[in-house]
Amino acid sequence: MADIHANLIGGEWTTSTNASRNINPSDLSDVVGDYAQADDAQTEAAIDAAAAAFPGWAAASPQRRGDILDAAGSAILARKDELGRLLSREEGKTLAEGIGEATRAGQIFKYFAGEALRLSGERLNSTRPGVDVEITREPLGVVGLITPWNFPIAIPAWKIAPALAYGNTVVMKPADAVPGSSWALAEILVQAGLPAGVFNLVMGRGSVVGEAIVASPKVAAISFTGSVSTGRRIGARAFETGKKFQLEMGGKNPLVVLDDADLGTAVGAALNGAFFSTGQRCTASSRLVVADGIHDRFVAALAEKMRALKIDHALKPGTDIGPVVSSDQLEQDLRYIAIAREEGGRLVTGGERLSRETEGYYLAPALFTETDNAMRINREEVFGPVASVVRVRDYEEALAVANDTEFGLSAGICTTSLKHATHFKRHAQAGMVMVNLPTAGVDPHAPFGGRKGSSYGAREQGSYAREFYTTVKTAYVFGG
Ligand code: NAP
Repeated sequence: MADIHANLIGGEWTTSTNASRNINPSDLSDVVGDYAQADDAQTEAAIDAAAAAFPGWAAASPQRRGDILDAAGSAILARKDELGRLLSREEGKTLAEGIGEATRAGQIFKYFAGEALRLSGERLNSTRPGVDVEITREPLGVVGLITPWNFPIAIPAWKIAPALAYGNTVVMKPADAVPGSSWALAEILVQAGLPAGVFNLVMGRGSVVGEAIVASPKVAAISFTGSVSTGRRIGARAFETGKKFQLEMGGKNPLVVLDDADLGTAVGAALNGAFFSTGQRCTASSRLVVADGIHDRFVAALAEKMRALKIDHALKPGTDIGPVVSSDQLEQDLRYIAIAREEGGRLVTGGERLSRETEGYYLAPALFTETDNAMRINREEVFGPVASVVRVRDYEEALAVANDTEFGLSAGICTTSLKHATHFKRHAQAGMVMVNLPTAGVDPHAPFGGRKGSSYGAREQGSYAREFYTTVKTAYVFGG
């Protein structure tokens, strides 16, 4: 393996004998690159480097921290086409989606460049005369970041930027399936002037590198995004070792369509929410909860739009939906399609593997009807281009079905009724509620996260990110 992309440890590009090959899911003959796999010793060295760099970075002026984040943001935006292309090659989302995600990453760095300067405290009047009470926020120390494969640059960005803005140092492990975008981010951070050791990149398997980060007593906090099973394991281990942690995990997000919905709006929201980015979004609209009076028209119109989608190589102009990310994920998608059929679901369209000019993991987006909310297809996250329709009588039943899930990330409703939209906004058991919009698609400056089994701990993104990446100190001063 020539030209292995090395890990970044204490400011040094450090390679290893083990590397993993990053393959394009749109074209299995296209090698994106070879990426070093860190071992336990290298992970430990990265944690030590972050610990050594912490006092200096925590003491750096917020202006300096902000300037470096701003420079990184500018570099990402200047390179967004190249980064978007890399991202599409390694993950399989379309080039437009890849460039959009790279742009989002740049904007996030710029946002947190400003947040570094806006970190403020509070002063309270004491109950005791002559005493001042002052509340300030301090960085945590070394923060371990563990990210999934479905947003290869945006999720690393929305963890790295606030961690650094508020004065923490970082050890990051990207998903093994998509190390390229994080490697490019590491290079950009070095070029932006980040001091050695402040940001460390250790690539490799979760079972090796991830476990070592979570187990280390020198790591003060873990921010994780990924599946529920991995998240719960990490949370338990982080708790045992006394760490602060936040977990962003799966979803089974309902999109309710009421009889009074604008049909075009509802179909557009379902098409985008369920199938764009190949349905590989934690906020995907995977459960379509549709009222009886609009059900047949909605299903017919959605199926027609789905059949018109162009599923092809992510970089091909005109492609609407790229391939599934990997053979494992494709197998999972096909397994759930078979399960939905066995459970009695009716496959209206899609669900079959597709052949294209290049060999890749192509799957026709699948739509099931005649499903009920107790079926596995409506209870478990598929994480692919698969959606199922649950027919309901009215709004009351729709709300009950929407909330009848162990997840609670995002929930949407399509209606022209202000009364129902308002009621849904108040009573949906989800961290994010969308009205006449897909369940996926959020703003970078607004808090992101869910309830119930979807999330644990403080929200990510926007100014709310400070809750996780800082710790509060209350000082009592008697001045005499
Ligand atoms: P995953 O399998 O849970 O992996 C997530 C990350 O954890 C990867 O970097 C993985 O490493 C690492 N990991 C695995 N085992 C570990 C261990 N024992 N200790 C420490 N780290 C470990 O999830 P995924 O398949 O990458 O991503 C898909 C999931 O992410 C879906 O459930 C989706 O809903 C969720 N997601 C949630 C959000 C949200 O904000 N709520 C956003 C995006 C995605 P390797 O894979 O490299 O081995």
